[in-house]
Amino acid sequence: MKLTIHGYSTALYSTWYCIEELGILFDAGDGVVSHLLGKSGKIKQVFVSHEDRDHLAGLLAYNQLCAFHKPKIYFPKDTNSFRFLDEFFKKFDPQSLGTEWIPIQDKAVIKTKGGIQVEAVQNEHVIRAGQKSLSYKVFETKRKLKAEFINLNKYELIKVKTENGEDFLTEEIKTNILSFSGDTPVTDYERFNGSKILIHESTFLTRSETNQKQGKNLHSSLEEVMEMVSNIEVEQLILGHFSSRYDQGEVDQTIKKMKQHYGIKIPVHRIPIGKAVFNILGNDKCKM
Ligand SMILES: [Zn+2]
Repeated sequence: MKLTIHGYSTALYSTWYCIEELGILFDAGDGVVSHLLGKSGKIKQVFVSHEDRDHLAGLLAYNQLCAFHKPKIYFPKDTNSFRFLDEFFKKFDPQSLGTEWIPIQDKAVIKTKGGIQVEAVQNEHVIRAGQKSLSYKVFETKRKLKAEFINLNKYELIKVKTENGEDFLTEEIKTNILSFSGDTPVTDYERFNGSKILIHESTFLTRSETNQKQGKNLHSSLEEVMEMVSNIEVEQLILGHFSSRYDQGEVDQTIKKMKQHYGIKIPVHRIPIGKAVFNILGNDKCKM
């Protein structure tokens, strides 16, 4: 399935990614609707990774413009901000009703249109107890004829199906077409193994910079993400959430250096600091 992905992601300021074909928004930082304009109306489901302001501030404008579409906003269940937002919006924009706020947790599976499902995976961004930070994985599910029936003709297949049912005849094939890390340190290489497209945060450039002060939320470095990607199966990588402390030239140089160091041959796309990008996968200016 071809995906058209638009996004903005700079640490501390804003992060959002719109997957146009799926009508899905991952995170809703400031500027979502002002960049997407009319495309905002295509968003039917919003999956927010955590309650940091740079990942949810865009909900204010989104809700006001799009609540009449009855969108669903999913968020980690042990957070408070989204419940407050729901209450606040009902008073602030009483004419904009219809948004459904849905708390979810690790391993939640949300079915969307056309055999697409989104699964929540708890990550390690927020170390305090409870479900406060999630990554998301998107799967395309299709039903495929089981190998033992491959030589049957049309009439035999109908007979088997009538006698035993669909599940006897076919099996579900799940493909991980996209994964979105949200904010998280790199902890588990298996988590995103097999993702056709991986959108991963890369706040810092080197591993040593991630050694943060006690009690602060945890992030990834480019170095760790590239090392992980060189050890797993991913077809395309999108890097974002770079800290604005860096100069863009420094970021790009480090990506190229690490791509070479880790022998990464897949396309790597990066979101420039402070810029929104349309059609990330097809945009040569993002490709490293
Ligand atoms: Zn963030």
